[in-house]
Order: sequence, then structure tokens, then C-alpha cells
Amino acid sequence: MTTTPEASDRAATDPVDDAGRTKRVLLAKPRGYCAGVDRAVITVEKALETYGPPVYVRKEIVHNRHVVDTLTERGVIFVDETDEVPEGALVVFSAHGVSPKVHEEAQERNLRTIDATCPLVTKVHKEVNRFARDDYDILLIGHEGHEEVEGTAGEAPERVQLVDKPEDVDKVNVRDPNKVVWLSQTTLSVDETMERVNQLKGRIPDLQAPPSDDICYATSNRQDAVKAMAAECDLVIVVGSQNSSNSKRLVEVALQAGATDSHLIDYAEQLEDSWLEGVGTVGVTSGASVPDVLVFQVLDHLAERGWTDVDEVTTANEKVTFALPRELRKDLDENPNGPKGVR
Ligand code: SF4
Repeated sequence: MTTTPEASDRAATDPVDDAGRTKRVLLAKPRGYCAGVDRAVITVEKALETYGPPVYVRKEIVHNRHVVDTLTERGVIFVDETDEVPEGALVVFSAHGVSPKVHEEAQERNLRTIDATCPLVTKVHKEVNRFARDDYDILLIGHEGHEEVEGTAGEAPERVQLVDKPEDVDKVNVRDPNKVVWLSQTTLSVDETMERVNQLKGRIPDLQAPPSDDICYATSNRQDAVKAMAAECDLVIVVGSQNSSNSKRLVEVALQAGATDSHLIDYAEQLEDSWLEGVGTVGVTSGASVPDVLVFQVLDHLAERGWTDVDEVTTANEKVTFALPRELRKDLDENPNGPKGVR
């Protein structure tokens, strides 16, 4: 079929496509920044203001390309390991947390540290310590190689076994089936985690659950919001980076909950026009490490192509906030003429 230039322009910009489908956008809420990411980013910004550049950060402070690039421009040097930080310099630990070994290495190198580990990740570290002290075997459900998992497992490596894929369940080896607990990474798919737990229970019927949910409020809220709109969507765009666990899970959840198609993008320009062919309703959401400015750029991009009608789908209102790390608060308090801000 050929179209005149006028017809193709109309197809690209009209709120109704040639098949009579209404072009509309469903915008998930909650989406984007969670309290732990907000705290970690503000921590680095305040460290820059208070101590001046360079500020070293071990690993990406949060898993988002835009955030990392913006902070790099402002004088942050991201490193993989503490041995890349000059002796005596300041290093910030990322929101994903670090193992005790990393703290020790930093101490050996006389580094000044600010720990921006999300308090909800710290909570899981404490659970590992408690169950290890009580001589439990700990089955940690999470993604192999993810920084959070490395930090959490590092609290008691001799007691923790990682369960990632379904086949890992068969490899689990416990000393006493009455003293086994499962814990998890904070950013997993809620449904997939329960599948893995049920598989584990097939082998260890008395497997104990965490004292409280390890998958954090922000992860489950963002998944619930996507589930609420996915069945109505021909396409769900998730704004987030490829190394962001919670963002990747949102794509999976969207597809499982009925979206016809779903893609993960860092920036609006990555949204391909071919994805929009034959599409009426586009769902938009973002991972917990994504500033909303990137979502608005996607909405602008869609509006230019005729998707001007935007409805927010709200499934929860989040009010969680975390205080800044103690080490930083102390210096901010002792430096009354220095920068003020969120404490
Ligand atoms: S996703 Fe959850 S655990 Fe991770 S930083 Fe945000 S609030 Fe903390």
C-alpha cells in the first residue's frame, strides 16, 4: 500500500490512527526515583558541594546512565574497586551496598567513606548476619553478579547460597532442613521470586520466610502499577538502563500482565517508530533509578507522533524518605556556613 505524504503525516500525528484506534498514553504512578535512589544521588551531590571534586564513587551510584553521566560531568570519578581510589581520598559506596570486605579494604587504604547503601538493602544485610549467627543456611534469591547480591552474600559467604535460575534449586545443599531461610535481592519480580520459593519448598518443606518482605516497597509498587495498565497497552515503554534490575523486571512484568510489546530505553531518542506501528495505547513507566525528566522527554516524543492524550494510572502514593548517611550529616552540621539542604 502506498500513502500520500499528507496521509502519512496524518497517520503520524493524529490522535486516531487509520484503523480508528485512539492514540493514548497510560502513565504509571508510582514510577521513577525511590527513596533509596533519591538519598544516594543527593548524598553524592552534597559530597561534591561540601568537599569539592573529585569525589570517588565505588560502582555506579545507581544504575542509570543519565545520572552517572551527569555526576561525572560535575566531578565524580566512578571506580570499580577501592584500590583505584588514591590513599586518603573520599569514596562513596553506592545504593546497592557493599560487603564487609570492601569496608575493610577501604580502611586499609585509609579512605574516608560515605556509605549511601539504601537502608532497605542494609536491612537484608542485617537479616543475613542474624540468621548466620543463629547457624542457619541462607538461600539468597537474586541475580548472579549483581552488586547488591555480592554485597549481601559477602556478609556471611560461608552460610549463603545464591539461587538465581530454576536449575539452581537442585544444586542447593543444606545441613539441617529445619534451619534454612530464604532471603532475596530487593529488586526482583515479586511473582518470579514466589515461583522460586515454591520450587525450593518442594525440596525443603520447612523453609522459613524472611521476617519481612525483602523485595522493597518501590520495586513492588512499580510492578503493581505496570500490572494495572499492561492489559490495555499495545506497547509499554520502560525508561531505565540495561543494568537496572528493577527496570528490566518492569518489562517482564508488563509482558506477563498482557502488554503486546514492551521495550526498555535510556532516552526518548531510542524509541523506534516501528514499535508504534498499529499501536493505540502506549503505557509508560520508569525504573526506580530514573529521574522524571527522562520520562517527560518520552511523553514529548510520543506527543510529536500524535499520542497527546495522557492519563495517569495511580496504584499507590509513596511518602517514604530516608535521612542522609550519618557521616555526611555530621559534616553538614559541623559546617554551618556550607551548603544546606535535605538532611
Ligand atoms: S529500589 Fe528499593 S532497595 Fe533499591 S534503592 Fe530503591 S528503595 Fe532502596
